Amino acid sequence: MAHKILIVEDSHTLAKYLVRKLEAAIGNIKIDVAGSYAELKELLDKNSDYTIALLDVYLPDMQDTELIDFVLSREIPSVVMTGSFEEDLYEKLSGKNIVDLVLKDSPQAMEYIVNLTNRLLRNSTITVMVVDDSPTVLHQIGRYLQNQLYRVILEKNPSEALITLLANEEISIVISDYYMPGIDGVQFLQKVRRLRAKDALGFIGVSSDGMSATKFLKFGANDYINKPFNKDEFCHRVNNLAQNLENIKTLKDYANRDFLTKVYNRKYFFEEGENYFKKALKEQKSFAVAMIDIDDFKHVNDTYGHDIGDKVIKVLAKRLIEKTKGQDLVARFGGEEFCVLLKDIPPLLAERFFNEICRDLATLRVEADIGNHIGFTVSIGVETKPLDTLEEMIKQADIKLYEAKESGKNRVIAHVVEEAF
Ligand code: GH3
Ligand code: MG
Ligand code: MG
Repeated sequence: MAHKILIVEDSHTLAKYLVRKLEAAIGNIKIDVAGSYAELKELLDKNSDYTIALLDVYLPDMQDTELIDFVLSREIPSVVMTGSFEEDLYEKLSGKNIVDLVLKDSPQAMEYIVNLTNRLLRNSTITVMVVDDSPTVLHQIGRYLQNQLYRVILEKNPSEALITLLANEEISIVISDYYMPGIDGVQFLQKVRRLRAKDALGFIGVSSDGMSATKFLKFGANDYINKPFNKDEFCHRVNNLAQNLENIKTLKDYANRDFLTKVYNRKYFFEEGENYFKKALKEQKSFAVAMIDIDDFKHVNDTYGHDIGDKVIKVLAKRLIEKTKGQDLVARFGGEEFCVLLKDIPPLLAERFFNEICRDLATLRVEADIGNHIGFTVSIGVETKPLDTLEEMIKQADIKLYEAKESGKNRVIAHVVEEAF
């Protein structure tokens, strides 16, 4: 769903410039602009679902902090934009729950506003867990984070926080105090790191005692904040961490995923597949490897063009992801060829699963020209016998795929062992 942003600004030129920059940087957003009290009131009476407001300080018909108070009374997180930092403005705004006070006096300042808006919108998809035994600090940090649009989970006790972390995969940042009853913040951090690595889960240690900073950082905290801290520093540090984690994920995706379909590439399939393969043999868990190849794909390219061919490949990849579980591995090996590793599944069920996939894919339609929808079929080779190496299993699946092609395509040929172990 598109986020809605409210801009209140009486300079028409500036508002237009900001709208253009926001749309270019963020995409999928809806922006409303009000230039006067009347326009603002009309918009707010009709809409109660703005994610963020970007507010001028004064409008010709709204003096002092009337405008800011009016928008805040509707509980819309608000960034206030000013032409210059006047001393008394700080004072006037100090008790108000605004997200940030920013300049709008230069292209660089406008870029800051756009980046901040982008960051805040993404924060609304990030869950942060705060762990502190002091209810006052816990709620204060919680308010700061909510103000930056984060989803927040508050925990008073580190042992319970660990259980919460295990149960909530979506937690991607943890902020923890040092002195707590039971285990301290660094012991808690060490337990957290056994569950999730530093580049997957951000951890910020908080303490009033400088000694614990080193300990936190040494044992895998991404950052450290000294108590007492001010709201601005705190928010910048958390936002920086969120940005860093996103950057790491982007880089990893570039390295591990196929550009066209966004499913894993061959390299990642072997890295991850190898880990699972060893574990499965050790624990005697049955699994299956399948090679999937689109039938007569050259014909699709030749008849409808390469772009439509790409579309078919994307539709296939998307369906494979939908049909498999998050733990299974789906990879594009090249062209219109995919490899799937189904984890923890008995041989017969694996065969049934791929037969179902084969039938299901044949029912999909892709728009080739306006009003002209085409279908496609695949052939699948499956190996369920645990062999010496993963490569060997893929090779055997490939031989079965070849047999499926030779015997008429649009079918599954599976080597189903009665018992894998
Ligand atoms: P078969 O049923 O035997 O699999 O026949 P096929 O036509 O699918 O034959 P083959 O697998 O040999 O051909 C694959 C074709 O896929 C050849 C190549 O031009 C095309 N191809 C490879 N990569 C891409 C891609 O990324 N996009 C598109 N559109 N086509 C691709
Ligand atoms: Mg093919
Ligand atoms: Mg092929």
